Amino acid sequence: MQEYLFEPIASTPYAKTLSRQAGAPLSAFKPGKRPYLTGADITSCAKPEEMAPPENIPPIPPIIMHTDPVREPQTLVMPTAPPAAQTSVIFDPVVQTKNEKPEAPARPKVRYDFDIAVIGGGPAGYTAAVRAAELGAKVILFEKDEVGGTDLYRGRIPMKVYTKTADRLRQIRDAEKRGVTVPAETIDLKSSLAGKDKVVAALSDDMTGRLRDAGVIVLNTRAALKNEHEIISGVGVLSAEKVILCGGCQPVVPLLPGMNRRGVITSDKIFTLREAPKRLIVFGGGSIGCSVAEIFAAFGSKVVVIEKQPRMLPGADLEISKETSKRLFASGVRLFPGVSVLGVTDARGCLGIETERGCIECDMLFAATGRIPNLLSLGFMAGQIACEDGAIMVNDAMETGIPGIYAAGDIIIPSKRAAGVIETAKIAAENAANGATRQTVNLV
Ligand SMILES: Cc1cc2nc3c(=O)[nH]c(=O)nc-3n(C[C@H](O)[C@H](O)[C@H](O)COP(=O)(O)OP(=O)(O)OC[C@H]3O[C@@H](n4cnc5c(N)ncnc54)[C@H](O)[C@@H]3O)c2cc1C
Repeated sequence: MQEYLFEPIASTPYAKTLSRQAGAPLSAFKPGKRPYLTGADITSCAKPEEMAPPENIPPIPPIIMHTDPVREPQTLVMPTAPPAAQTSVIFDPVVQTKNEKPEAPARPKVRYDFDIAVIGGGPAGYTAAVRAAELGAKVILFEKDEVGGTDLYRGRIPMKVYTKTADRLRQIRDAEKRGVTVPAETIDLKSSLAGKDKVVAALSDDMTGRLRDAGVIVLNTRAALKNEHEIISGVGVLSAEKVILCGGCQPVVPLLPGMNRRGVITSDKIFTLREAPKRLIVFGGGSIGCSVAEIFAAFGSKVVVIEKQPRMLPGADLEISKETSKRLFASGVRLFPGVSVLGVTDARGCLGIETERGCIECDMLFAATGRIPNLLSLGFMAGQIACEDGAIMVNDAMETGIPGIYAAGDIIIPSKRAAGVIETAKIAAENAANGATRQTVNLV
């Protein structure tokens, strides 16, 4: 099971999800007679106990482990990096006395603008910058949006706030079973949004204060590598002896017809809605999809989850998957495992989600179809920093194949991410700051 260093949301499937993926084939479905699914189809959708048995799921493909690129260069064949342009060069004066042997010519000492440049200000970048500064390094942090990253604005924190609200609503509803009469409970999503924004603002202020106290220079601009030591940013080119890449991940949606329609949203937008949609279809029954389904069901939306694998949370243990399906079912969420979405159309003024079993109408489609590393910060070094499945490969010291360039957090390969976002950031910072070789071992 994936370990998170920071506190996961205990009652959501996210906390229980494994990072590994099971590549199960799609279940074959006979096409229905009617082009549209009716309410009866929806209520007769698969119950948790009817979902595909474990033997239908093929073995999980082995994760190709990346080994130390220095000791095993054959695993990481990369072109030689071009020489870095340096901002200024100074020479150590060599004082030679009569009896001393002539010394080797003085080695040029390169002076950089900063000791360490961190690109990305999510939990990984923030942690790496503060840790490196604590160790005495002169640090600059580039963040294109707001310090706090996905975690604070679009991920764990908003989800945690909304999960708590959903839990409260469920408790109120349950009170009636104990004889407590409650007037019809409703949710004002605008107020919930304002409450969530307050929590986020307080945490953001805290992070900004800590960066300032640690002496980290924060630049609110996009940044990308020009070479090993130079970074192109909105304020020009700056140089640093070492670089830590912490660009994180972004949501990705499959290239299907109509996926760019109004009403199709991802986790970037779901926690900014001012009203809960009447009918919400969640495309993807992974951890984020299941958590959002549960939250919006509590908020009063009619929710359907469509998952192409034969069960919800396909990457998790079967028991966790079953338990989650039962809970979702009990919350009124309808589950369609083993169904593929084929595209999105206009259907009588709303969205029509075309599936192998027909079309389901909804007001909003939440695409929870995965996240991919954001590699734009690699800039001109993109062809030289080795990646695997779209994520940066690092050794146990969090160093990429290019000496002096480190990476941490969601941007690195999942096998290293299992150490936890914060832990990978600390390791990268410590190794970059004082040349230590702290490694993550036996964590995966
Ligand atoms: C809906 C949702 C729920 C989640 N729930 C949980 C949970 O319960 N528990 C848990 O442990 N994890 C959870 N996660 C995952 C967690 O949010 C991530 O693991 C974490 O945010 C990764 O941190 P990071 O710093 O690597 O990347 P990010 O948080 O993505 O930060 C990367 C930052 O880099 C910036 N950036 C990127 N490129 C550049 C560039 N070129 N120049 C300047 N800046 C750049 C981005 O703007 C961003 O701010 C959830 C994620 C989502 C989406």
